[in-house]
Amino acid sequence: MEHIKCLIIGSGPAGYTAAIYASRANLSPVLYEGLQAGGQLMTTTEVENFPGYPDGVEPFQMMDDMRRQAERFGAEIRSGVVTKADFSSPVKHVWVDDTTELTADAVIIATGASAKYLGLQSEKNYAGKGVSACATCDGFFYRKKTVAVVGGGDTACEEAIYLAGLCQKVYMIVRKNYLRASEIMQKRVEATANIEVLYEHNTLRLTGEGKVQGADLVFRKGQADEKEVHIAIDGFFLAIGHKPNSDLFREWLDIDETGYIVTEPDSTRTKVEGVFAAGDVADPHFRQAITAAASGCKAAIEAERYLASK
Ligand code: NDP
Repeated sequence: MEHIKCLIIGSGPAGYTAAIYASRANLSPVLYEGLQAGGQLMTTTEVENFPGYPDGVEPFQMMDDMRRQAERFGAEIRSGVVTKADFSSPVKHVWVDDTTELTADAVIIATGASAKYLGLQSEKNYAGKGVSACATCDGFFYRKKTVAVVGGGDTACEEAIYLAGLCQKVYMIVRKNYLRASEIMQKRVEATANIEVLYEHNTLRLTGEGKVQGADLVFRKGQADEKEVHIAIDGFFLAIGHKPNSDLFREWLDIDETGYIVTEPDSTRTKVEGVFAAGDVADPHFRQAITAAASGCKAAIEAERYLASK
């Protein structure tokens, strides 16, 4: 069975940054990329707020830069999904793709978060037939068509603006009477002629013959002027936030009620010695690429200190 000194799980900004620091500290890190190499950022269009890129950068480019930087110092980046963990002994056991068992002295969990769905039965029925949680991945299929984006945060605005460049019309379905997104994103939405924001609307169900052709919405649910509204759409994009990818570690670590791994204050240490958590899987507050990268750096430094103390 292969033994690894410092195992990193996840390939977003947190994982890659941990790999850069751990390899420079001679920890011979091995990083498993997970289902989506590059992490969540790969589902966005452009990164404008990561320092060092004054003109913005395409997510693919940024994540490729990070990966190559880690490899330059000797980090081994492998494709594979960690499917099981056992942290019951000082030597940690981890299974990759259900089959390969590994042991590790230190583990850095940087598994990020995944898109949330509304939980409607019709969302499941139309999976891959008009329902998507990634405009960058799937927007192309809806050129010159009409789509809806659910959510009122920065992601929803970004997705709507991106889709507006491809589609004839974009509805934003927002449950409150305002957008939660930052001022700059709100202004961009307002300035985009083919985006129509449907405030105080919730989705009841998707409709269509074999693929999404429409959505039934409810306006001002529970109020005197409540009414049902139908919109004709070809695509339905979810942008209502993310769920931390922590289920795998539930048996061993403290996980809060929303799914975030609990770490010690000002640290990436979890309740298991030698297991660290970095990035969106442990960050309910900031959830930014730059904060994820910073916590990946912290995790590698803490892993190095832990290994040196052994
Ligand atoms: P947010 O949590 O900020 O927003 C989620 C949105 O979805 C809110 O409008 C919320 O409504 C709505 N929502 C949640 N659940 C439901 C539901 N069941 N039905 C209908 N609507 C729902 O998530 P984001 O992914 O937008 O952003 C996450 C973080 O990433 C934020 O800190 C954001 O600023 C940042 N970010 C920054 C970007 C940038 O700077 N360019 C780009 C993208 C993200 P309500 O407001 O009513 O709760």
